[in-house]
Amino acid sequence: MKIETEGICAEVTFKKIKGIYLRVDPAEGKVRMNVPIGTSQDEIIKILQEKKDWILSRRALPAATEEQKELMRERLKELIPYWEKKMGLHADHYILKSMKSRWGSCNPLIRQITLNLELAALPEECLCYVLVHELAHMVYLGHGKEFWALVEQYIPDWKRIRRSMRE
Ligand SMILES: [Zn+2]
Repeated sequence: MKIETEGICAEVTFKKIKGIYLRVDPAEGKVRMNVPIGTSQDEIIKILQEKKDWILSRRALPAATEEQKELMRERLKELIPYWEKKMGLHADHYILKSMKSRWGSCNPLIRQITLNLELAALPEECLCYVLVHELAHMVYLGHGKEFWALVEQYIPDWKRIRRSMRE
């Protein structure tokens, strides 16, 4: 059974057990729960709410909802031309997909930028930061001084944003 509360989605299995077992898959951000047969939905929701902070801290990346992802696709139709024009840089291909361990990547050889759809769960400043970061890789491959200077030119508080995304 699937239970969703406060942005947490749990896959609940009823078993012949006495205690409750809760596991968070860090990669997917999914919660798996084994509960004794007869546990009510209210009890399960209460436990999920009580454990909310713990669950969120275990997730590697926040999981964006389909609605958020759709919104992000829409926003990018404006944000991509906006930042490309502002930076005077351009990618030929943009790939949007859910990734487990990185927010974005850039392949300057084929002029392709990949953005993690899970960014949709974060504030828009994070999406802008990743977009600018990947566009900057069109010029600089690594994360050297010049690279960060270029990013900082467009996102002056990139350090704060980056830190917020690592939590
Ligand atoms: Zn990078």
